[in-house]
This record gives sequence, C-alpha cells and structure tokens, in this order.
Amino acid sequence: MTSSPLMDPVAQDQDVVFETSLRPRRLAEFVGQARLRGNLEVLIKAARLRREPLDHVLLTGPPGLGKTTLALLIAREMEAEIRCTSGPALEKPGDLAGILTSLPPGGVLFVDEIHRLSRTIEEYLYPAMEDYRIDIILDRGPGARSVRLHLEPFTLVGATTRAGLLTAPLRARFGFHGRVDYYGGGDLEKILSRSAELLSVAALPDALDEIARRSRGTPRIANRLLRRVRDFAQVDGLPRVTRDAAAATLARLDIDETGLDEMDRRILDALVRKHRGGPVGISTLAMSVGEEPGTLEEVHEPFLIQQGLLERTRAGRIATARAFELVGVAPPNGTAAGGLF
Ligand code: ADP
Repeated sequence: MTSSPLMDPVAQDQDVVFETSLRPRRLAEFVGQARLRGNLEVLIKAARLRREPLDHVLLTGPPGLGKTTLALLIAREMEAEIRCTSGPALEKPGDLAGILTSLPPGGVLFVDEIHRLSRTIEEYLYPAMEDYRIDIILDRGPGARSVRLHLEPFTLVGATTRAGLLTAPLRARFGFHGRVDYYGGGDLEKILSRSAELLSVAALPDALDEIARRSRGTPRIANRLLRRVRDFAQVDGLPRVTRDAAAATLARLDIDETGLDEMDRRILDALVRKHRGGPVGISTLAMSVGEEPGTLEEVHEPFLIQQGLLERTRAGRIATARAFELVGVAPPNGTAAGGLF
C-alpha cells in the first residue's frame, strides 16, 4: 500500500469486507438511535433546502455502534462525495490540504479517531472549518512565507470514541454533536435479521435473539457473531439456525452469555476481587487491569453501567450485587451498594 492518508472503507480484511456489505444504504435503513437519526434527518433536509453544505458533525461513542456508517449515510443523503481518513493518518499539513483541495463543492471529509489528530494539523483545520481556507507555511523563521489555499465549502464529520480527549477549540467548531449509544436487544435483532437476509442465512427469530443477547449492545459484534454462527451451521449441514444451534456455536467460541468482552470481565474481576467491590478510583482500577483510565471511562464503563454491573459514585466505582454474582464471589452484606452506603 502507498502512504496515502486516505482510507478505503472497502478494505481487504475479510471482516471489513463483510462489514461493508452489511452497511445500511439509506438513513432510513439505519436501525435504532432514533433521536440522533431524527436530528440528522432534519439537519440534512434543512441544508438541502438552503442548498448549503451540512454543518460540521461530531459523532462520539464506543466502537462498533455506527459512527462510520452514519458518516457514509450523511454523504449519501447529501448526495455528496466523501473522503475517509483518520486522525493518525493525517501526518503532514500537506496531507490535509491535498484531501481538502480535491473535494468537490459540498463534499464530506470523514476523520475517524479525530482525537488523535496532531496539534499542528488541528491548527490547520480551524480556518479550513470556519472560512474554507488553509494557509500553508512554506519556510521557517522570520522570513517565512505562506500560501493561502481557498477551499470549496465542505462538511467535516469527525468520529471519536474518546470525546474527553478532544480539545475545546476543535469541539466548538462542530455545529452538531451526536452521541451513539449501545443498542437494545430489539434493535440488534432487527439489524441481525436484515444481515441474515443479506447473507442468505436461514435463522429462526429466537436464534437471532440468542446472538443479540451476546453482542454487547454492538452491531459490529452482532454481525460478526452471525457470521460465525453461519459458518458452523454450514459445516454442520443445518438447514436452519435454531436457538440451540446458535447457543452451541457461541459457547464453542467462548462468547459468554452476557456478551461481555475480555476487558469487561477483567474490570469486574479486579473490582470485585482485588478491590472488594469498591469504591475505587478510576485510575487505580485502570492500573489494576493495565488500561488507560480514559479508555476505561469512555469505552468500557458505559456498557457495564448500562448492564447494571458497575455504578459510578462520588467515592469511586462500585460493583453491584449482579457483578459479584457474575464473578462468582458472595457480596458483602447482601448487595455491594447496600453494604457500602
Ligand atoms: P463505528 O464507526 O462506530 O466503529 P461502524 O459504523 O463501522 O461503527 O459500524 C460497524 C458495523 O455495524 C457496520 O458495518 C454496520 O454494518 C453495522 N451497523 C452499525 N450500526 C448499525 C445500524 N444502526 N443499523 C444497521 N447496521 C449497523
């Protein structure tokens, strides 16, 4: 591959090829996130009526919940061209200038992991976002010259799993902030049933329910598990995937019934065993599991809280009775929260 900062969302990796084939083609096909989708629909309609590019959009939330998909759908609904890149891929100001000058009027630039942009690139981005211009500095020192590049109006769609790491000036330049959240079982089932149809997998609704329950509220995981279940069903020569068949496959793959991933389990284990259910500060907890506090806070904690396994209190994080049960340790005084407060 060349060192182009542009990313092809249609990449070579099998899982990515598969993901691409399952991406919804219209905003109306995008399941769940009703509020966010509704707001985007209004925004898009208004921009189209005014014949203006869409305001810059910032999408935040844990991985695999549809941020890239939404960026692609925004471009499609605006009938605009899109270029995809990511924070770390934009190394030099020239990379950014090259992409922006090649965008036709009203085009969309999607920057994934936007919290990982270097400060220098970020500074170049400000005037580009505000006034559609970039001043490229040619030399250094007192005699430095610069050339001003005028850009066509464009929309920046930024995505991040780590909203807390975005600088205030960058955040302020987005006209719309949208947050994607974990999906409920019903929405995941809808996504799975659409994927099953696209992949020609004959799966009974309760098989999809079984997969949905183990998908950590995440469409990317749901679709991956569906693919694994399909593989096993094909090899076993099953005409239809039943709940039992799905459960057996997922058990063979060590996907636990709660859908928790390895880091989730490590966090709960540390919280319950090492810290006796807490309260424990986020930094200490992060150190116990060898992860960054910010990642714990923005990627793992939201799911554990949603599942009623962890609570945030002023004194620190505490494990709930359910977490104790899951880890297989008897909670002190009945429930953890009850016992501590
Ligand atoms: P992110 O950018 O947030 O990590 P993606 O947009 O890449 O997540 O989504 C991962 C996969 O999950 C996509 O390939 C898409 O097929 C599927 N997906 C995500 N959200 C939805 C949704 N709301 N409806 C249908 N499929 C979805």
